[in-house]
Amino acid sequence: MAIVIRLVEFSESSYVSTLFTEDFGKITALAKGARRQKSPFENALDLLAISRVVFLRKSSSAMDLLTEARLEQPFRAATRDLTCLYAGYYVAELLQTMTDERDPHPELFRSACKTLQSLNGSQDVGIEVARFELSTLRDLGHLPTFSECVECGVSIPLNGRRVSFGQLAGGVVCQRCRVGKRHVVSLSSNAIQSLMQLSDLNSSRDAIELTATVRGEIRGLLNGYISHLLGRRPRMYGYLTQLR
Ligand SMILES: [Zn+2]
Repeated sequence: MAIVIRLVEFSESSYVSTLFTEDFGKITALAKGARRQKSPFENALDLLAISRVVFLRKSSSAMDLLTEARLEQPFRAATRDLTCLYAGYYVAELLQTMTDERDPHPELFRSACKTLQSLNGSQDVGIEVARFELSTLRDLGHLPTFSECVECGVSIPLNGRRVSFGQLAGGVVCQRCRVGKRHVVSLSSNAIQSLMQLSDLNSSRDAIELTATVRGEIRGLLNGYISHLLGRRPRMYGYLTQLR
């Protein structure tokens, strides 16, 4: 199984496709004839489609060759609204920029599939995006700590007071460790609590409700944190301002 995360025109008739596969991680494969009217792949190579694929692995220097692709789940969010569409593009961008070629992350694959499915339906886009970002961070070993100071380990009480979060440190920091740190933002207890809930794999999707203020705080935090990790702002942030 694979998610189509990028398509680049290759020749008159072909695409170079980037696929995030369940078993092999990200791969780049040539899809011969995919741009023809009667493509052998039909809709299985539409952007963000989830498809069953067969490909031939080439040596490290050559591109893999896609030989078969059969559509399992189309990405229909475009017909819902633009924010859903952009959220889908953002999922593709994170998979593209945060994972390496041929580095399998089956958990992340499943969480991306679930997110695309939810974007096809009527789920809350802001919540879906935040959940996907947090599960990506968890899978790649970058999930911030929300309950203990990331520096000294002391537990941080959520008693309605504001909490400091170190963007570079990668988590909440206590008042003592906060001193002299750069790139520290202040968050409400509610925002931290919601982030813990959103990153909890067992929490039910329906149980989460976010006020506009908390939404804004969470967007600001995740935007800053992911930009720090990548060393630049993801391209899709400009299109996702509605989620604030
Ligand atoms: Zn501390």
